[in-house]
Amino acid sequence: MPTFDYAPAPESRAVLTLQPSYGLFIGGDFVEPTSGTAMATIEPATEQVLAEVAVADESDVDRAVRAARRAYQRTWSRLSGSERGKYLYRIARILQERSREFAVLESLDNGKPIKESRDVDVPLAAAHFFYHAGWADKLEWAGHGPDPRPLGVAAQVIPWNFPLLMLAWKIAPALACGNTVVLKPAETTPLTALLFADVCRQAELPPGVVNIITGAGETGAALISHPEVDKVAFTGSTEVGRQIARTVAGSRKKVTLELGGKAANIVFDDAPIDQAVEGIVNGIYFNQGHVCCAGSRLLVQESVAEEVIARLRHRMSTLRVGDPLDKNTDVGAINSAAQLARITELSAAGEAEGAQRWSAPCPLPEKGFWFSPTVFTGVAPAHRIAREEIFGPVLSVLTFRTPSEAVARANNTPYGLSAGIWTEKGSRILWMADRLRAGVIWANTFNRFDPTSPFGGYRESGYGREGGRHGLAAYLKGIAL
Ligand code: NAP
Ligand code: MG
Repeated sequence: MPTFDYAPAPESRAVLTLQPSYGLFIGGDFVEPTSGTAMATIEPATEQVLAEVAVADESDVDRAVRAARRAYQRTWSRLSGSERGKYLYRIARILQERSREFAVLESLDNGKPIKESRDVDVPLAAAHFFYHAGWADKLEWAGHGPDPRPLGVAAQVIPWNFPLLMLAWKIAPALACGNTVVLKPAETTPLTALLFADVCRQAELPPGVVNIITGAGETGAALISHPEVDKVAFTGSTEVGRQIARTVAGSRKKVTLELGGKAANIVFDDAPIDQAVEGIVNGIYFNQGHVCCAGSRLLVQESVAEEVIARLRHRMSTLRVGDPLDKNTDVGAINSAAQLARITELSAAGEAEGAQRWSAPCPLPEKGFWFSPTVFTGVAPAHRIAREEIFGPVLSVLTFRTPSEAVARANNTPYGLSAGIWTEKGSRILWMADRLRAGVIWANTFNRFDPTSPFGGYRESGYGREGGRHGLAAYLKGIAL
């Protein structure tokens, strides 16, 4: 194999103006938190502090929810759909105009490679605003009743794996449908949400329509339990999702939960193998495997297993792990020390339980949080690495002989978020898709997202859909679909 030495190709940070500290974005202004406490957000690739952000306590949550309520009553719910749409179009265009700034900041705060933040996260975030801008004046025709109404104030809590994109998935439909928002980004990745606050001001969005409050889990818990909240939208772990479901049970709050996954990526013997290998790599090593719908269980037909694994290892050896801001980087930094510890622990469990580990022989930087792309073979369905969500660049390989066995193995999980099928036969794709219990099923592709397509899970992967016409239902009072 010819090898090439890549020259460093770092994206410049000059496009960014980071402040040393950030307040809470409430009622259209940055304000100091009542408690006066702050936390640092770091760059996972270097462990250096990027900025301090405020920690919102219950009284700050209350201020933010009141600001959202006022904006809902006085302005946002009174605007026509086409007026709301204009603001959403404006936000979408500003996101495009400032895309480089957002991509650099996302890669710094999260650790993901710039080629992903630049080509996936930021363009998709803008696309969500464009798409929902188009719905704002057409809600009567969305199939949710003749006169769909907004719910009021939406409390939105998001994770760290796609900080700006998850913000867009939450805020765009909420605003299009006429709701106002209080959003809490994750503790380790608050910066693009705070930059988005600046976009709201630039777009002259009426004050209080979007409020961004930072803090850890307690801030999120205070937000979702606030009595003046009408709608709770959460993306994160199944464990926290369960707590949230308990908290809001019996209240009038409408809830959507987008939780974890343990997706099967199923490769049949008639699949185009090189294409499938690219899909396997994209399925599990994209975004360091910090993807709820990651194809973390590879189910490969026994007759081609050896060949697929050999080609996969070969391909994995070419992955470049390192500086997230380098344009040639394929796999960036693990988001936090805590997440690295979890990945390390589960990988050790895989070895202890008897699976065979192979990690790509790539050099890792000394500082920061890193994990080599890893694949486990000889995995049994009972192993922890076959059952638990690792949320890192670790693939577990299982084999099957018949389509029925593939279905049984794929469905042998408490989750049900996504699945992938690789075969040249259309009839087999349809046969499989009918039987797989997963919200999203990809055929001969993986991790493909589009704002027009609803996304969401079954069982422990949560409930409700985001995106598409279906996703609007989560933010409207109307007739259920
Ligand atoms: P997490 O611990 O559940 O955190 C998610 C968010 O909830 C964070 O903002 C977190 O704040 C906050 N939070 C923590 N405890 C809370 C509580 N008791 N009440 C209210 N909010 C609380 O999950 P994570 O580790 O950030 O993300 C990884 C998980 O998210 C994975 O399981 C993944 O599968 C899932 N995920 C699912 C989807 C999907 O669409 N289905 C998408 C992305 C991620 P702090 O950050 O301050 O802890
Ligand atoms: Mg960070």
